[in-house]
This record gives sequence, structure tokens and C-alpha cells, in this order.
Amino acid sequence: MKSMPDCLFCKIVKGEIPSQQVYEDGDVFAFRDIAPQAPVHIVVVPKGHAASSVADLTPQNSAAAAKCLEAIAKIAESEGLGSGYRVITNVGQDGGQTVFHLHFHLLGGKPLGQLVSVSN
Ligand code: AMP
Ligand code: ZN
Repeated sequence: MKSMPDCLFCKIVKGEIPSQQVYEDGDVFAFRDIAPQAPVHIVVVPKGHAASSVADLTPQNSAAAAKCLEAIAKIAESEGLGSGYRVITNVGQDGGQTVFHLHFHLLGGKPLGQLVSVSN
């Protein structure tokens, strides 16, 4: 499995940096965000450093994203988010991305409204 030595999320997957893990399978790892933006805020990542963001997806590595989305459906159920939730992926500097290991934010636990906030 591809791992990058200086990548925060690769270190979390390997247990080199502690995290509040909520889910793990053969391909995916998920943990609570350290700066939660909603009552439930979970970061879902492929275990391997498959891509830096969705902008880097190709037919060769897009399964990593699909596995994350499949895991999100399971995690949402186990977190009691049956009434709904939001999935966000930030891309690049203007997208607010700070960690360049493909990941998805799972947010919920309260009504989030109809629009994604774009305030700064
Ligand atoms: P992004 O801004 O989309 O790249 O998302 C990176 C996310 O990682 C942010 O929401 C951070 O709060 C979160 N984060 C950074 N360091 C940690 C950590 N050690 N444990 C859990 N979440 C973290
Ligand atoms: Zn990584």
C-alpha cells in the first residue's frame, strides 16, 4: 500500500499519530476530525496514498474514492445519521484543502441547511 513519509493522514493510518478511530476495513480508515465543524465530523481516507485529491483521480485509482464513499454510508448508519448528512471533499488551495491525501468529510448530527456554506 502506497504511503508517503511526510503525509499526516498516512501517519494517522499507520498509527504514528494518534486519532479517534471510528471505522477501518481493508481499504479505508476513518477518524474524528480534530476541529469538528458539526456534532459529527469524521474524516474518511483511503489507507493507501492513492491520490492527493479528487482532482487526481484516474481509472487506475478511482476505486479508492468509491471505497471511501461505500464506507461513508456504513459509518453514517452507525453514527445514527439516518435523517441525513453531508459529504464534502476540498480540492486545492482555494478549496480550503490542507492535507493532500484524498479524503472526504462526513458531517452531520444537526440540520445542516440547504446550501454548503461558502462564507469566509
Ligand atoms: P482539508 O482541510 O479538507 O484538507 O481537511 C483536513 C482536515 O484534517 C481538517 O478538517 C483538520 O481539522 C483535520 N485534521 C488535521 N489534523 C488532524 C488530526 N491530527 N486528527 C484529526 N483531524 C485532523
Ligand atoms: Zn498520505
